[in-house]
Formats: sequence, C-alpha cells, structure tokens
Amino acid sequence: MVRRIFPVIIFILIVSSFVFCQGGADSTIGQRIKMVKTQIEDRGILDTDVLSAMREVRRDLFVPEEYRSLAYADRPLPIGFGQTISQPYIVALMTELLDVEPGEKILEIGTGSGYQAAVLSYITDQVFTIEIIKELALSAGARFKEYGYDNIKWKNGDGYYGWEGESFDGIIVTAAAGHVPPPLIEQLNPGGRIIIPVGSIFQVQYLMLIIKDAEGAVSSIPVIPVRFVPFTGAAMEK
Ligand code: SAH
Repeated sequence: MVRRIFPVIIFILIVSSFVFCQGGADSTIGQRIKMVKTQIEDRGILDTDVLSAMREVRRDLFVPEEYRSLAYADRPLPIGFGQTISQPYIVALMTELLDVEPGEKILEIGTGSGYQAAVLSYITDQVFTIEIIKELALSAGARFKEYGYDNIKWKNGDGYYGWEGESFDGIIVTAAAGHVPPPLIEQLNPGGRIIIPVGSIFQVQYLMLIIKDAEGAVSSIPVIPVRFVPFTGAAMEK
C-alpha cells in the first residue's frame, strides 16, 4: 500500500512545486495592485481600462535587472542611454488623457523600455511605437516578442515625422519637444488626440493635450507641469 502511494505523493509534490514556482515567478501581482491603488487611483485616475492595464503589465520586466526591486516604486527609473521609464502615475495620466477606445489606432513616440506601449496594448489592439535610439528600439522589440505583445508594431527612427503612410486616433509623445511636430498633427484623424510634453530641458515643460475636432480644427490645453527627457532628432534643428 505504502509503495503504491509513494509515487503518487512524489507526483503531487512535483506538480505542486511547479505550480508554486510559477506563482513565484509572478509574485509581483500584489505590488501591481498596491501601485495602482496608492499611486494612481488615490490620485484621481479613474478610467477602469487604464487601471486594469496598469495592473496587468509587469513593470519589473521593463526595467534593467539592477532596478527590478524598485520597479513598483513611485518614481521614474533609468533604462540606459541617459533615458528613463516614466513614473507609473505619469504613464497612467497620459494614457487616461489619450482617452483610448478599443480598436483605435495609437502611435507612441519614444518607445524607451516599451512599458507605455505594453500598457496601451491592453486597451487597444493597434499600437505603433517609434524609438530613435537603435539599441533601445531593438531591446524593446525583443521584449514585446518574448512576452507576447504581438499587437505592437515598432521601429527605430525619428518620431518627429510620425509613421509615414499611417494615420492615428491618438498620439502619445514621451519625450519633451520645443514644439508639436507638424507631421504628427497631419497624421492625426479628425476627433484624434495628441498628448505631449512641450518645453526644453531648461524651461518648465507642460504636458499638453492637443485635440483635432471633427472639422480638423486643432486646439491645445495645458495639463500639468512635468519633467521629461528631451526629444532629439529633427526637432533639435527646427
Ligand atoms: N515611453 C518610454 C519612456 C520613454 S523615455 C517607456 O515606457 O519606457 C523617452 C524616449 O524617447 C527615449 O527612449 C528617447 O530615446 C526617445 N526619443 C527622444 N527623441 C525621439 C525621437 N525624435 N523619436 C523617437 N524617439 C525619441
């Protein structure tokens, strides 16, 4: 009897340790729930799509190894090449302001780690993202592949020109530009929104919401002062 039960016990132990390890591999769910409650919801972000997307994406997988323990902290973190992944609250605020509906086509300028694009990909299945630093573009692309973010189209290039040949319902720029690049306004569909930090590194930057109405008229609304890394490339010469 004991001999027959023994293999069964071993089998149960193996299966349960496997299940336990899987749980251990994603032990960040508690941290994500807490981050969303204390840093985002309690500060007034109420869009349920944004809150659940922020609960889904593992920010720890988008930061360098040495910063993993700080992945859910209330702050931006370095991602190499002098760039940063934004504070979770800023990601949530920009995503809420972009007012994305499922199925809408969204362009992000400044892929960085790929975190913001991953958050967007939980709200709509059409996400495009452009990064000017080749190494960052390639590593974000590898991350999208590894973690199954198959609905994100990415490329290495200067986002000043947008994604030629496409048009978008929303454009989110995650680096601060001195002005809103005209090609982005051109690529915006009627009814579309752009969220962009405007200002140089020496000035106060403002997060601006640009809206193109159904007739194509463009208006802009300053939201809050922010601090972003600078937009580089063609914008620097204009
Ligand atoms: N959204 C990112 C954080 C971006 S930091 C994330 O979730 O991790 C800003 C990024 O914008 C940097 O990676 C920087 O290289 C990129 N960037 C700056 N100017 C750019 C340009 N002209 N076109 C595309 N990317 C640009």
